[in-house]
Amino acid sequence: MKEHAYRNLKLCSKDCLCLFVCPTGAADNETGQIDFETCIGCGACARACPSHAITMIPNKMPPQKKKEPEVIKALSHLLREKVEIIRYLKNLLDKTEIEEEKRLYKTFIHSERVMAEDLAREAGYMLPQSSNTHELLLKLKNNKEKEEEIEKLLEKLEVNDKEEVRV
Ligand code: SF4
Ligand code: SF4
Repeated sequence: MKEHAYRNLKLCSKDCLCLFVCPTGAADNETGQIDFETCIGCGACARACPSHAITMIPNKMPPQKKKEPEVIKALSHLLREKVEIIRYLKNLLDKTEIEEEKRLYKTFIHSERVMAEDLAREAGYMLPQSSNTHELLLKLKNNKEKEEEIEKLLEKLEVNDKEEVRV
């Protein structure tokens, strides 16, 4: 599988060893990030980096691992519960005038939303390369105001579980 290098700038100690070993100059980029276009994925920079700041990642994301229907059902059930909790908390937030309570409800909503997003991902939704995301974008395309942006996303996001696309 073809790969390219990714630099974690938080770990990088700027000793420039990766620039020294890189055969294409891809590691020497003004943005601080490795240039995707010129990186050939040889991995020399990752091996040379003393800070473990460089990771090799696949050029294309692998298809999502299939889940058993029972697992999807259980995750979807948990997701629906999270949505209900968020709705309830939003209702409480709208009703209160007390600042501390507002802060508390906002924190709970945020936490529930993060968990809901994880559940949605695990249940097979919201992965950009999934067929269900593709289907959703096709539906949203009817919105004239967003048509252009959605068209761009459809071009960029290559569906990698094509056998499941129902459109
Ligand atoms: S993987 Fe190879 S080509 Fe890409 S940045 Fe690292 S050393 Fe350069
Ligand atoms: S070798 Fe690692 S620590 Fe050094 S500049 Fe490159 S990414 Fe940063």
